[in-house]
Amino acid sequence: MHTLKGTPAHLTGGPAGVKLPRMARTQVGIVGAGPAGLVLAHLLGERGIESVVLERHTRDYIEHRVRAGLLEHRTVELLREHGLGGRMLELGQVHRGTELRFDGQRHRIPYSDLYGGRTMLVYPQQELVADLVRLRLAADGEIVFEADDVALHDIESERPSLTYRENGACHELECGFIAGCDGFHGVSRPSIPPGALTTYGFELPFAWLGIIAAVAPSTSEIIYALHERGFAGHMLRTNEISRFYLQVEPDDDIANWPDDRIWFELRTRFATNDGWTLREGPILEKSITDMRSFIAEPMRHGRLFLAGDAAHIVPPSGAKGMNLAISDARVLSEALAAWYGSGSTALLDSYSETCLRRVWRVQEFSNWMSWMIHKIPDGVPDASFRRRLQRAQLEYLTTSPSAAASFAENYVGLEDV
Ligand SMILES: Cc1cc2nc3c(=O)[nH]c(=O)nc-3n(C[C@H](O)[C@H](O)[C@H](O)COP(=O)(O)OP(=O)(O)OC[C@H]3O[C@@H](n4cnc5c(N)ncnc54)[C@H](O)[C@@H]3O)c2cc1C
Repeated sequence: MHTLKGTPAHLTGGPAGVKLPRMARTQVGIVGAGPAGLVLAHLLGERGIESVVLERHTRDYIEHRVRAGLLEHRTVELLREHGLGGRMLELGQVHRGTELRFDGQRHRIPYSDLYGGRTMLVYPQQELVADLVRLRLAADGEIVFEADDVALHDIESERPSLTYRENGACHELECGFIAGCDGFHGVSRPSIPPGALTTYGFELPFAWLGIIAAVAPSTSEIIYALHERGFAGHMLRTNEISRFYLQVEPDDDIANWPDDRIWFELRTRFATNDGWTLREGPILEKSITDMRSFIAEPMRHGRLFLAGDAAHIVPPSGAKGMNLAISDARVLSEALAAWYGSGSTALLDSYSETCLRRVWRVQEFSNWMSWMIHKIPDGVPDASFRRRLQRAQLEYLTTSPSAAASFAENYVGLEDV
């Protein structure tokens, strides 16, 4: 443990060498061991700032929970610079372009060439979570798995705390700060008094049926296909496993989707005029995910700071959720480091504003992309007008180098927003 210059004693966890009761006190209590919480714990630990991560699920569960898989250049660089990317760099696949399909035609957008050679990396989120957990535990970081009934207290005071149960026993953890990294359905955001947050958001009129299939990819680059029956996406995972998405109705039931129907729709929606074929294989997992946009402002209340999905959700079309979560963690770690290093509150005070600039940019891009690649359902107001706009958008993007360059910088991830 490091005692930090200029830090009030109750925030340091006690003088060096004194063993406090297990988890009675920490500098930063982190709720949630997703990408935001784990990256934050690492970045703080690197600067000598203590944290304890409380995670509701088991280690095995979070290390196998299938979600995102596309890392922005900036995210990869951050993880690499902080020694968190060894396995990711070894096993991840570098991507330099993506394909848009419509009218049976294929259009490649070489985003790397269009954005200074920056690339994306395909690496499954659950693998990254597993790496971060392993590295954190190896560095003697504390992660409490299966922490039940986590509750936040006194977040407006200088001594906020967390209570939780572990194996039935109640624990209390006094914190200097609390980081709410517990996702959209977590407990942190609802702990903020009503009226203190302004929320924005809406449900998009489509959902994604996502499958994991034990089959080699049929493409070397991600495909986004718009067909009159709806969107189909071919994402990459590994050489043996592929991820596919189909646009379905938001209230659709997975029971309506036997494997044969899924492969029929994928074949139909991906069909091209040049004889491209889809490899098929056993479906290992399938689920339906609603698409929503959501932002809570500000991302701070008192000594509680929200990060990642706890504060914002973007539709998955642009593959940005995990990247935003890690970006918030970086900003928050720098703000907390400034406080613990010099007592400066400047970065803590600007945390929300700094993060929200990027969040809104990504929200706009993810929405723009979502409306461009999905079949616009009949029930949407002005559906026929929107479909003609969509067509104009697709034609512009696939014919104008300027439009493609703008797409590239947003997709690969703007550096300075
Ligand atoms: C089904 C699904 C599919 C997705 N697909 C994509 C995709 O293809 N591309 C993309 O970019 N993004 C995708 N996303 C979004 C992306 O996965 C998230 O944006 C990312 O996980 C956010 O990271 P986070 O750390 O903020 O939150 P999370 O990863 O949600 O982590 C939050 C953690 O907090 C824990 N937790 C929750 N409540 C509590 C509590 N009360 N007490 C203690 N712990 C708690 C959770 O168990 C979880 O481990 C998907 C999300 C979902 C749900």
